[in-house]
Amino acid sequence: MPVFHKNLTIRTGSHNELVDVTDRVRQVLSESGVNTGQCTIYTPHATAGVTINENADPNIATDFLNALRKMIVEHDQWLHDQIDNNAAAHIKSALIGPSETVPILEGELALGRWQNIFLCEFDGPRTRHLIVSIVS
Ligand code: ZN
Repeated sequence: MPVFHKNLTIRTGSHNELVDVTDRVRQVLSESGVNTGQCTIYTPHATAGVTINENADPNIATDFLNALRKMIVEHDQWLHDQIDNNAAAHIKSALIGPSETVPILEGELALGRWQNIFLCEFDGPRTRHLIVSIVS
């Protein structure tokens, strides 16, 4: 089970933001040469996440971030805000999770027609890392 890893650096531009990383992940898959396997996209941060959703309509990203903002209100007497004032970002990160795994079929990510891969920034702008691991 050979494994191919690549660490990508992504500079985010907003406090809350979705960054479409699909093309960069596809590039890593191409470099790996793997035809059949699995691709895991993982971010090693406690205030960011990875998700898969539509990017054809950018309003979906805005709706997604607005829904999270309504559910997890910033500075809502969170205890962790007394430490470094970013409790909402930690909660969003925990709910969304740090990774997604996509099957690789015939050398391509087996994403659906309307699926893209996003790095979710919840405490930006920052420099983030994304580890793409491919197993065959
Ligand atoms: Zn914190």
